[in-house]
Amino acid sequence: MKEKVVEILKKAFEKSEIDGAVVMSKREDGYNYVLYSNFEDIGEISPFHPVMKLNGAKVISLVTKDNDLGKKFLFILKPCEVRAAIELKKLNQIDFNNTILVSFTCPGVFEFKEGNNFEDIDKLLDDFKNGNLSENLRETCKSCEYFKGEGSDILIDIFNEEVISLTAKGEEFLKNIDLNFSTEIKDNENLNKIKDLRAKNASDLYKSFKKDFKDENKLIEFFDKCIKCNNCREACPICYCRQCYFESETFKYYPDSIKRKFQIKSALRLPTDKTLFHLGRVSHMATSCVACGMCEDVCPMDIKVSQFFKYMGKNIQETFNYVPGINREEPLPLLTFKEDEFREVED
Ligand code: SF4
Ligand code: SF4
Ligand code: SF4
Repeated sequence: MKEKVVEILKKAFEKSEIDGAVVMSKREDGYNYVLYSNFEDIGEISPFHPVMKLNGAKVISLVTKDNDLGKKFLFILKPCEVRAAIELKKLNQIDFNNTILVSFTCPGVFEFKEGNNFEDIDKLLDDFKNGNLSENLRETCKSCEYFKGEGSDILIDIFNEEVISLTAKGEEFLKNIDLNFSTEIKDNENLNKIKDLRAKNASDLYKSFKKDFKDENKLIEFFDKCIKCNNCREACPICYCRQCYFESETFKYYPDSIKRKFQIKSALRLPTDKTLFHLGRVSHMATSCVACGMCEDVCPMDIKVSQFFKYMGKNIQETFNYVPGINREEPLPLLTFKEDEFREVED
């Protein structure tokens, strides 16, 4: 299917349907997203590569936010990156006007750690197409429930080896570049197998967290190893604030304030506000968490941050009957006031 991606890029540039394209590529410095301004400069692309050094939604934001160049860009991203982009769009951090979002049935990515063979893309794709989950996939990928290009304009279906338009914009684009395409995903036995395996893993994950977090002290224990490096916040595509509340004056401690706190509490754990930081992050963005796994990948203390957010996110999202990054038009729950919502908490 890589050839199909090359064909899309070639035709799109030739027919002036795009001015730029972002695609995962292999360069001297390894696998990275690269922004190309013409087809001739496109080197070795590897769109399905099992590597995620940053969530691609951040790339779209970088390229399109305040884009007054009038340029059109095509992005080839993993489904969780597209979904994060849709959430960022709702937070006014992305402009979709001049974009075409292409995604694919996603085999998942490996942890970005030494010892994982990132070159073994053929085995990863073979496993995937045969309905098996590769062993060294990240836990969040093994339990990923939205891996079929949800939210994108165009899907590259690795199972049925087809290009599929998912939106009117995608359809128009594919017609304009004269590419054969379908308009719906065909049923496929192995795709269903992957869907079932991942749904079972997700259900096991939710059950295990539900059991563990019955005890309210579990949260403190869970983040006990946290060194408050803020990597999880930096890597998260949804945590976009220029200044995090936890970096504000409110959370800066000076000798005086430490002394005051110490007098009240008589014992003060340092660094301060560690659990509060994680609770703050959950309360700010759990409705939009797309379980992309980035926060866990970058945690130096191997805390299952992403799995925790996936569990918390699911509970909160279900409360609002909201699935992040699927429907571009559906407003964010935290920005929507419904008069009759949560009446039960008033009693
Ligand atoms: S979380 Fe899902 S969409 Fe994201 S890389 Fe893993 S399998 Fe793909
Ligand atoms: S909290 Fe973690 S899993 Fe959720 S969107 Fe942010 S980085 Fe991804
Ligand atoms: S990345 Fe890990 S150690 Fe760093 S702040 Fe987040 S949870 Fe704590």
